[in-house]
Amino acid sequence: MLFIDGTWRGANGNATFETSNPATGEVIGTVADAGSVDVDAAIAAASAAFSEWAGQTAYVRSAVLRDAYQLMVDRKERLAKLMTEEQGKPLKAARNEVQYAADFLLWFSEEAKRVYGSTIPAPRSDQRFITLQQPVGVVGAITPWNYPISMVTRKVAPALAAGCTVVLKPAEQTPLCAIEVFEILDEVGLPPGVANLIPTANPVPVGEAFTSDPRIAKVTFTGSTEVGKVLATQAAPHMKRTSFELGGHAPFIVFEDADPVHAAKGAGLVKFLNTGQACISPNRMYVHASIADQFIETLVARTSALRVGNGLDAGVTIGPLVDQPSLDKVQHHVDDAVRKGATLHVGGKPAKVDGPGEGFFFEPTVLGNVTAEMVISHEETFGPVAPVILFENEAEVIAAANDTAYGLAAYVYTNSLARGMRMFEALNFGIIGINDINPTAAAAPFGGMKHSGIGREGGREGIAEYLETKTGGFSI
Ligand code: NAP
Repeated sequence: MLFIDGTWRGANGNATFETSNPATGEVIGTVADAGSVDVDAAIAAASAAFSEWAGQTAYVRSAVLRDAYQLMVDRKERLAKLMTEEQGKPLKAARNEVQYAADFLLWFSEEAKRVYGSTIPAPRSDQRFITLQQPVGVVGAITPWNYPISMVTRKVAPALAAGCTVVLKPAEQTPLCAIEVFEILDEVGLPPGVANLIPTANPVPVGEAFTSDPRIAKVTFTGSTEVGKVLATQAAPHMKRTSFELGGHAPFIVFEDADPVHAAKGAGLVKFLNTGQACISPNRMYVHASIADQFIETLVARTSALRVGNGLDAGVTIGPLVDQPSLDKVQHHVDDAVRKGATLHVGGKPAKVDGPGEGFFFEPTVLGNVTAEMVISHEETFGPVAPVILFENEAEVIAAANDTAYGLAAYVYTNSLARGMRMFEALNFGIIGINDINPTAAAAPFGGMKHSGIGREGGREGIAEYLETKTGGFSI
């Protein structure tokens, strides 16, 4: 169903598309497929609802988001199960994602009350300056499938908190998760038109409408760098406000002063999270040559112990890839690396999993002797492959880590505080984990440099993306 102007309804012309379980291939739902008429209706509803929603007190907006937080936490189990079925991650990881998603609702219900202006000393004694923060207007939001609930709340919560209204297009592979989020917003009494949902199998016209329709003030996108660039190009002639959360190619650097066993444990946990389908997934593991053997031994042992399968099955620690093209891309990265001289320590091919249907499973893989000439060293793999590259000194590894068009996340393992600080300053990435494999939280700004995006989500910065600063100069 589409959710437009407070009503659940079918698409114009009753078009639909199917969504399926990547662990089995089985169809799990049929969803209304929004076309241009529906997109226009959603933008019209959001536009009509804007001034009243923007005019509500921050306390009213905060209360709605707070209630949505509570309902999402109450529904954690149901949402997690649906997420596992539709997206594939193991149930435990799905529960964690629902909590992370709910955290954005809570954080921005609080931030709604902290949208402060300022007073500024003026150069003339008869002049006063003040600034006011106002919502930008109607927001067009586009989200990916890999974190199908938290990527929705990370946009919708700050937009609503700021006083904006929203039209959201979720990923084609995960519309059911987005529908559940909007059911929550509906149930907690969000006024009609304030948040609208338009699942579709054809994203192109939506992107065109969001970037060109004069009623849309801001476009926020999370997805691939490739599509982000298309939208940025489309938005430019219309001077739309935009923010982009795009792809990554994270370096994971382990120095000789770190514990290689502890670092390998961290590397395995963060690499295989969500089957490697995370924008902050390490795509290059730089390990000091003097500790590489211990690191690889531990990483290979831990990787071999992972259990691939349907995320609903007890004991499964790594789920399927989302679709066949994703599986083909992972295979291509492995084959290219092996052909160019990489050592295949474990994995390297599609995994056989017992159970009904056909899933897109790939064996968790560790590659050694990886070099800069291999495709995997510079393209986002988005799959369960850990490529290990050896290095000798700090300057060399900083240069190699920064030698990428991407700039989202980086990880460093070291027991030297000074080195940790040097690396934090020298690495050109937006999010840096120092001996930490989860440098993310609703309260911390998330976003990339270079081709990984523009803008930040979460934290104090997250709501600023939906606000305009207005300056008032008063002669008194
Ligand atoms: P994608 O192919 O770029 O799709 C993302 C969204 O854009 C989907 O909703 C998709 O719709 C839509 N889309 C595709 N083409 C479009 C167009 N021409 N106009 C408007 N919308 C369009 O990316 P994905 O495969 O879903 O997600 C994986 C990528 O997202 C990875 O690169 C990952 O690193 C990145 N990501 C980044 C972050 C971050 O915070 N930086 C977080 C999560 C993921 P359809 O589903 O219908 O194709």
